[in-house]
Amino acid sequence: MTKRTSRSDHPARPDHAAGPGEAFGGGALWIGQHTGDHDILVLDPEESDSTADVLALYSLTQHRTRRFPRATVANRIHLVTDELAHTRATENYAQRAALRENHERTSETVRAERLDRIREGMIATHQRYVEILGLEYQGVNKTGEAKVGRASKCHACALPLDDFVGASCAICSTVLCSCGACSCGKPARARRNAAATADVVDATDAE
Ligand SMILES: [Zn+2]
Ligand SMILES: [Zn+2]
Repeated sequence: MTKRTSRSDHPARPDHAAGPGEAFGGGALWIGQHTGDHDILVLDPEESDSTADVLALYSLTQHRTRRFPRATVANRIHLVTDELAHTRATENYAQRAALRENHERTSETVRAERLDRIREGMIATHQRYVEILGLEYQGVNKTGEAKVGRASKCHACALPLDDFVGASCAICSTVLCSCGACSCGKPARARRNAAATADVVDATDAE
């Protein structure tokens, strides 16, 4: 349905009605739908310059401003002609402040829930890690932000410990790594425990 067109044979489009420097959409509120991601976009000449080379359109899906070169708007964003869809978009645009707030709240909740699930998975991995070491799992404790400062490298995976999981091992009290490891099973600690001589530690870890 999209015929390749060049500048010279591009038919006049009354919905866009704008050459370079002219007001896009004839200077009125213009509502279009992106043919790629189907976003509903509003060009409001009272909010942004409709004569600019790069047009700023308000996204009713993402609730933020999206910028497109004029040619992209003309070729990739099609005027919403369906009356119902147009009316709904106009109403949503009028209420955009409240809708944006709601959108941001929802996004934050979704993000927080996803992070919670990831952290739960890491704690489950930590339980397996402890049990594979032959220790009895004793759960984890929440870490406060104050403990982030003592971060160092993970002995198991070598990543810096950033306390992403927000939990410490109840056995060794060290911050969990995202890989599930804690200091239980750390070579020096294991040797120290085995030897039961905490004050004699080979700092060079030659072996
Ligand atoms: Zn690790
Ligand atoms: Zn531990």
